[in-house]
Amino acid sequence: MSERAKIKTTIKQAVEYWSNLIDECDLSVDWAEADTHCWRCGCEKNLQRCHIIPHALGGEDSPENIVLLCGRCHAEGPNVRDTSIMWDWIKAYKVPFYETFWIIQGQKEYEFIYKKSVLQEIKDISAKANIEDKNVIIDKFKSLYDGAMKNASIHYGQPYFNTATIAGIYRMIFNQLCKEFNISLG
Ligand SMILES: [Zn+2]
Repeated sequence: MSERAKIKTTIKQAVEYWSNLIDECDLSVDWAEADTHCWRCGCEKNLQRCHIIPHALGGEDSPENIVLLCGRCHAEGPNVRDTSIMWDWIKAYKVPFYETFWIIQGQKEYEFIYKKSVLQEIKDISAKANIEDKNVIIDKFKSLYDGAMKNASIHYGQPYFNTATIAGIYRMIFNQLCKEFNISLG
């Protein structure tokens, strides 16, 4: 192998390449911060240089085949021989603020499991408990949040709550809210 072939594409080179082709308005990350944030979810932990087309499918170590993803986004990403698929996927998950990405995914997971959105659940609980001031529910929700967090943990080796855990935290809070208001969930 030549010396040149051993040199891996840097994240900086990948940012330079892709920032000319992909509009940051379509992403969860600004190009100015793209060397330190996951390009899908915007987080800063466990970042990995990822091949868009996998090495096993002939993908090369060159800027046009590299994106920066965190470990969990890397594990969930598409592994196919078509670069546009990776970008379709990254863009589809765009959120406006870094901290909201996994909360939003957790809310989607909640709706998938319990067949009702988090927002609708809050509306229904408010209606059943005859609470008209939504701040009352929000304050209650916040006060129960810490307790629910203590009953959840991060899977070994993972730096964050996964989406099912976030959905579970919502469910435990809703269960507790219903108990306090003496109503049933669902
Ligand atoms: Zn990520």
